[in-house]
Order: sequence, then structure tokens, then C-alpha cells
Amino acid sequence: MKWPLSKKMETSLLTCVIHKSEQITMYCTDHSQLCCSKCFELNHRICLQVTPLPQAATGKSTNFKNLSVSTENTLSQMKQCQTYQEDRMKSLKVSYKEHEGLIVDGLRVNIVSYLRECETSTVNTTHEHMQYPISEMREEIKYLLADFEKSTIKEKKEDLNQKQAPLKVVRNSCIRLHYELFHLHVAIPKVLGKPVLSFIASKKCLENIQQSNIFIKENFPNHVFTLNGKSVHNVRMPSESGTCHITAVCALPNGQVLVADYYNKRVKLLNQQYRVVSHLDVRDGFIHDMCLITPTEVAVAMSKYEVQFITVSQSQLAKGRKLKLQQKCRGIAHNQGDLYICSPTALYKFTLRGKLDCRLYEDSSADDTGWQAVSDGPTIAGGE
Ligand SMILES: [Zn+2]
Ligand SMILES: [Zn+2]
Repeated sequence: MKWPLSKKMETSLLTCVIHKSEQITMYCTDHSQLCCSKCFELNHRICLQVTPLPQAATGKSTNFKNLSVSTENTLSQMKQCQTYQEDRMKSLKVSYKEHEGLIVDGLRVNIVSYLRECETSTVNTTHEHMQYPISEMREEIKYLLADFEKSTIKEKKEDLNQKQAPLKVVRNSCIRLHYELFHLHVAIPKVLGKPVLSFIASKKCLENIQQSNIFIKENFPNHVFTLNGKSVHNVRMPSESGTCHITAVCALPNGQVLVADYYNKRVKLLNQQYRVVSHLDVRDGFIHDMCLITPTEVAVAMSKYEVQFITVSQSQLAKGRKLKLQQKCRGIAHNQGDLYICSPTALYKFTLRGKLDCRLYEDSSADDTGWQAVSDGPTIAGGE
């Protein structure tokens, strides 16, 4: 359904992003910037190509379809960035809770052993009336509790808040940037046919995408890993003579690892010492990629337009359901119930049941522009 552009939306489009009380009236080609009269006075007086808006907007058609695809792409990344920050905050909280549990356990042990000590010394007294003084016990327990509350708990809570604060800042920026871009994304289809507003909307949208992408790059370390160590393991099985070309790796939460062997067309299960303990042959095609769906299920991207699900149970692998696709399947990733699948030229979002949700990105400039989908787990590629 398409609602007309509201007055409020129009006003917001026309407002200068820097000077909120001014309307945009010009465009500076030198700086690729929309300007109000204040912007002009401050920064663009000596620019060579500053043109009034209606003139700047004539004959400039924007490819709204492409713009909309990149907007959706940025919006989805921004959401992922937000989730990433929230997950980090959550995991800090979990480790704090665990720590708190340990401290409470420690306190319990201290009190119990103290009381036991009191009991023993009471039993050992030869005189019946010489009980361990209650007031002293009370003092000692009070002291233990106070110390517990003051030093340990407070300190840890402050520590947690301090660690969460910068994550919160980034999370809030994600929400704000997402909101602003989404606002433009919604406005764009409504201004089609209005040259000046279309021009402003597309310029603002591009600007927001650029800013957002820089922000994402700085705060969402998608492909930045720190190498903590390296070890080499042989995953060749005795029956295999050719090359073992590992195209995908999935670490299971229980410490086992699945590797996809391209030429031998099989998925191998490694134990925690990285020895092959089981395997499953997938003869229908080559395996391009693999991702974790649940702690005991992975999805395998096959060369033949399909995704094969494989379950792991008691160190045995078994084939599960299969998804047939319209696209070639190059890469696969799973995030919160959505499957992200790469064809050689595009990135698609699917439901876990295999229903196409949308195309997030496409680059048809060459035959092979797509590569592996963004993954939330460790991905290692190697060969032998
Ligand atoms: Zn301005
Ligand atoms: Zn300028």
C-alpha cells in the first residue's frame, strides 16, 4: 500500500541536516552537498558549481531500484550491528551473574564454616553454661555480609556498568542511524515524480548510507579476527588419495568440528582433538559452504542449486531435508532464523523453510561477483 507523502515528511526532507531551522535551497556539486543559505555563507561561497535546487534537480534521474537495494542492505547491516552490541552486553551480564553466583557461594562457605567453628568450640567447653557468645557471632556474620556487599558486589557492578557503557553508546547510535535511514527509505517511493524532493531524498539517502557504512565498519568487526594461535591437523581419511580441499568449517557448541571436503564430496566430523570420527558422503554435488543452524544441525550449500541439511547426533551424521533453489548456491550463513544465501552475483535472504524473502544485494557487472555470505561463526578455509 502506498500512502501519500505527509506534510511532516516533506518538511523534514526539505530541512537542512546541519541547520535545523533552515530549508535546503541549493546544491553544491563541488562538495556533492545539499546546502541551505547558512551552509552557503559558511562553506560554499567560493565553490564554483552551486546551483539552485530546481535547476540542480532537472534531468538528474536516480536509479531508485539500486538505491533501494543498497539502503536495505545497509539497514540490515545496521540491525546486525545493533544485535551484535546487544549480544556483547548480554554476555557481559551473564558472566557478571555467574561471577555473582560464585561470590555468593563463597560467602555461604565462609558463614557455614564459621558457624561450624562456633559449634565445635561450644561442644568442647567443659562448662555447660559457657556457650559461644551470640553477640560475637552476630558481629562476625554482619562483618562478612558488609564486606560482601561493599567490596565485592559493588565493585563488580560498577565494573559491569563501565564495560557496558560504550556498547550502549554504539547500540543507541545504531538505532538512531537506522531510524534516519529507514525514514528516507520510506519517503523515496512517495516522492517519485516530484523532481526536487526526489533529488533531495536520494542525496540524503546516499549520504546516510555512506555515514552508516563508515559507522558499521568501525563498530561491527565482521571480518576482523585476532589470531590467538594456530595448529595444523590432518583430516585426510585412509581411503582418500587426492587433495582434501576444505571449503567450510563449522564449530559445534560441544567442541566438535564439521569440515566440508570439496573434492571428496563429504562432510567430516572431527572430535575435540580434531581427529575424523565420522563422515557423510554428499555425492550429488560439490560443497561450497556450510553454516550452523542449531547446535546439532548444519546447512550445506551445494553446487547444484540446493541446500542440504545435515544433523549430528551422538557423533553420527545423517542427511535431513533439502531445499531446492532457483539460484546457484555459493555461500550460506544463518542468523536468527534467516538464511543468507549467495549466488555467484547476488545475496538473498530466505526463511529456514526455503521461502525467498528478498534480494539484499546484486552486482551483475561480472559473472562472479558474489562470494561467501556474511557469517556469524568462525570460517576457515584451507587445503592440503
Ligand atoms: Zn545548512
Ligand atoms: Zn561547496
